[in-house]
Amino acid sequence: MSKVLIIGAGGVGGVVTHKCAQHPEVFSEICLASRHQAKCRAIAAQLDRPIHTAEVDADDVEALVVLIESFQPDVLIHVALPYQDLTIMEACLRTGVPYLDTANYEHPDEAKFEYKEQWAFQERYARAGNMATLGCGFDPGMTNIYCAWGQKNLFDEIHRIDILDANGGDHGYPFATNFNPEINIREITANGRYWEEGEWKETAPLAEKRTFDFDGIGEKDLYLLYHEELESLSQNIKGLKRIRFWMTFSEQYLTHLKVLENVGMTRIEPIEFEGREIAPLQFLKAVLPDPASLGPRTKGKTNIGVILDGLKDGKRRKVHIYNICDHEKCYEEVKSQAISYTTGVPAVTGAILMLEGLWKGEGVFNVEQLDPDPFMARIGDMGLPWQMVELDPDADPLA
Ligand code: NDP
Repeated sequence: MSKVLIIGAGGVGGVVTHKCAQHPEVFSEICLASRHQAKCRAIAAQLDRPIHTAEVDADDVEALVVLIESFQPDVLIHVALPYQDLTIMEACLRTGVPYLDTANYEHPDEAKFEYKEQWAFQERYARAGNMATLGCGFDPGMTNIYCAWGQKNLFDEIHRIDILDANGGDHGYPFATNFNPEINIREITANGRYWEEGEWKETAPLAEKRTFDFDGIGEKDLYLLYHEELESLSQNIKGLKRIRFWMTFSEQYLTHLKVLENVGMTRIEPIEFEGREIAPLQFLKAVLPDPASLGPRTKGKTNIGVILDGLKDGKRRKVHIYNICDHEKCYEEVKSQAISYTTGVPAVTGAILMLEGLWKGEGVFNVEQLDPDPFMARIGDMGLPWQMVELDPDADPLA
């Protein structure tokens, strides 16, 4: 029986809390802490078992240490914002509590996200005999684990990986983002980038477009983006020659984004407005629908997965491994749409494997460095069943 401390009571934090509450055989006590305790209480009120709630500023290491020492969790799941990765990792290190997150560190003042600062904790975690699991959402997370499972069970060498993230959901608003708008828009408006033959290749934002016929949601336009799992997978998958990430966007979404960009609303540098400094993107976030409010309105499905292309016993092989998730079913189960659901469920599954010692290690690990088998065996029952389709190794499915 274990105690879990969840930091961040947003869309993903809600799912993580519901899912932990569904497993009393693992999580005997749950504490949900966030910047605003009212958010934690609102989530607690949806559950049919009592949990603790707390208020904490996760930018403040000392405050985190006080909270951790008073609750004494066996694992901490960080689903606040990527800006808090380093402070929460530091607090876990000081208190000896295993750490898990779903997004790599972002610098609050620049549109820059990378693993460098988190990987820099490696030696200190190893020396302390503690474990940090990085990027255990869906992408990164599930997608990395699909790759690791393919590497272990299907291929001798994986040469090319395409990660395909499709959202066929409709929330009925002309424009809204499915998760934190600030993070989402920063990710999309940055240059595209992929990795080939040991080098990063840059493309203009949303310049590369393909189409793919997705099981469960049909044909969709996909755009090449840089996404954080490319950084770790390009290092951890042996024999890899190329890895790219693709995401679907509707024409309507892209038109709105272009207008917002053209008028300067997606800028992160502060401007002066009526004697106050404001960052246009943060102001935009304040006027857009709260992602948590999209849950009851969103219909349709997501299909997220990976195409792996490589060699097995000297022969080419290509497979598509993916999950289809239904927005409405997620809402029925945990009061949240599929984007938060697909992020929160892998986080809880990873935390369970850490508690059970099936994911074990001393140091800082990206999820593809851990054993994918117990995760793939468990994740279907946790709510994200996966499927695999063999593809023609000689055909390009991304026409
Ligand atoms: P939300 O914006 O809905 O929630 C974030 C929560 O973090 C808010 O509730 C906020 O608290 C809390 N928070 C922010 N700053 C602090 C702070 N200083 N101290 C304490 N709490 C704080 O985001 P999401 O739930 O959509 O996303 C959560 C995380 O999941 C993000 O890191 C995101 O990047 C990641 N993610 C990962 C995905 C993946 O597949 N790997 C996909 C989607 C998201 P409050 O409300 O109390 O003010």
